[in-house]
Amino acid sequence: MHASAAAVSPPAISGPLLAWYERHARVLPWRAAPGTAPPDPYRVWLSEVMLQQTTVAAVIPYFERFTSTWPTVDTLAAASNAEVMTAWAGLGYYARARNLLACARAVAERGGRFPDNEAELRALPGLGTYTAAAVAAIAFGRRAVVVDANVERVVARLFAIGEPLPAAKPAIRAAADAITPAKRAGDFAQAMMDLGATICTPRAPKCLVCPLHAKCAAAGSGEPERYPAKAAKAAKPLRQGRAFWIENDGAVWLVRRPGKGMLGGMRALPDDGWSARRDGSGEGPIPGPWRAGGSVQHVFTHFALELTLAHYGGSDWASLGGGDGQWWPIEMLDQAGLPTLFVKAVRLAGND
Ligand code: SF4
Repeated sequence: MHASAAAVSPPAISGPLLAWYERHARVLPWRAAPGTAPPDPYRVWLSEVMLQQTTVAAVIPYFERFTSTWPTVDTLAAASNAEVMTAWAGLGYYARARNLLACARAVAERGGRFPDNEAELRALPGLGTYTAAAVAAIAFGRRAVVVDANVERVVARLFAIGEPLPAAKPAIRAAADAITPAKRAGDFAQAMMDLGATICTPRAPKCLVCPLHAKCAAAGSGEPERYPAKAAKAAKPLRQGRAFWIENDGAVWLVRRPGKGMLGGMRALPDDGWSARRDGSGEGPIPGPWRAGGSVQHVFTHFALELTLAHYGGSDWASLGGGDGQWWPIEMLDQAGLPTLFVKAVRLAGND
């Protein structure tokens, strides 16, 4: 059983929360100060896409670089796929970068204006329930129910929702809806996010300084960390793959990965075609000889990968052909925009 959200009026929560937010809002480059005019929708959208699965601290330098290179959605829409993928390198989850560009182009086609409501925002590439609600609330002041992982935790605790995630999501969403005020929904959403990030943290929440302490069922139970409950996780499968280090005259052979699939469109070392569903074939882009060069591990959302590095010991450069490959100066590898997995492999090869 959990405390009923229906019994709580929105102002009982939003009143003390917004008062707290006015004093403690985090200052972030994509934000407007509490109670002021909403920020630029382009900046809100860009930050929300970058923040999915990534921390605020990791996102800030990327956000600054993107907005100084492409200050408007129209300038981003005019960028090439390769430029955006290179700028995105290191943020991970590369399908987001492809959707980012597709969305920028869709908005540019509509005259560079983002739609101002959740339903139309949802129709744009890459905008799920959460991002559409966040942009509608924060950039356009619409009442929208914005539930990210931080908000999920705060709401599960406020109402002591004991059902484990993900089954608890509908109950959490209904409770979040019940406490979302009609006005200042953008500030409310950001206040909930900030509370989750700074006070109602996953471990050791600071209940004694929390503005919602008096209303919180989990704090009342004395064991706030029990919420939200989590279902036991299935172990991730471990896939095996090989990457190939082919070096000649101070340069290494890099390829552009196919547009669809893992790390699609990114520059990378050639590999043996591993994927989330199967191990690689072991085959390189040329017959060899190959010398073993150790291995690196990398954890993706649904699987872990052990990537073994093989160094080429021959000189049959002609067999490489052209295609999507190119010789890249080793001393400039930091500018190749390699995804983190291949940065690890480059380090393993002894080239930081
Ligand atoms: Fe979270 Fe504690 Fe505040 Fe409840 S009182 S919302 S558990 S920090």
